[in-house]
Amino acid sequence: MNSHHHAPMPAGIDRKALWVVRELGLPAIVKACVVCRSNLHRPTGKIRVNANGKLLDVWLLIGCDLCDRTSKIPVHERINVKALDHDRLLMFENNDPAMVRELTMDTMLAARSAYRLDWTGTWELETDMPFYDLTGADPASFEVVVRFELPAPVRVENLLTAGFGLSRPVVRGLVSSGRIQLPLPVDAKAREDFSFFVIRGGAPS
Ligand SMILES: [Zn+2]
Repeated sequence: MNSHHHAPMPAGIDRKALWVVRELGLPAIVKACVVCRSNLHRPTGKIRVNANGKLLDVWLLIGCDLCDRTSKIPVHERINVKALDHDRLLMFENNDPAMVRELTMDTMLAARSAYRLDWTGTWELETDMPFYDLTGADPASFEVVVRFELPAPVRVENLLTAGFGLSRPVVRGLVSSGRIQLPLPVDAKAREDFSFFVIRGGAPS
């Protein structure tokens, strides 16, 4: 799950830039409201734990974006209290914000409960550490390390157009000519850290 993609390092590159996919907020939960027409929900910040003898039910509580109606996403159903990690149980009981975040971004939970996540507006790309101008006269090649603060799926092409301020066709041209060397396809979606290289003076022969 935590495998990081790295392209093989071309010789002689010692300059690095850091791009960070900064977290701005939690994704929306795409699930039809039973009351109104909206299909967007937001976490309420609450987790409900119900005990029935030794069996626990745990739900993430979400609210409709339009009418505020609360609904529940099952996290654990009739789980024996002994099967649940005690620290996790405490986080559930205390509505721990880190646990709310983890559950809201949990794509396994989304798949199990048959809803999608909408990551629109959850991130922004920060590219000025330092900023290397792709079109400048500086001939040195460099590596760009892309770090994700949240597992938002972002198309690599969108990272490149935003990061360099270039159009889609220009970015595609740089990739196909080998000026930009990626560890994954340009139209793939990345959601975890990777790095890529910008090779000056054309592709190495
Ligand atoms: Zn609603």
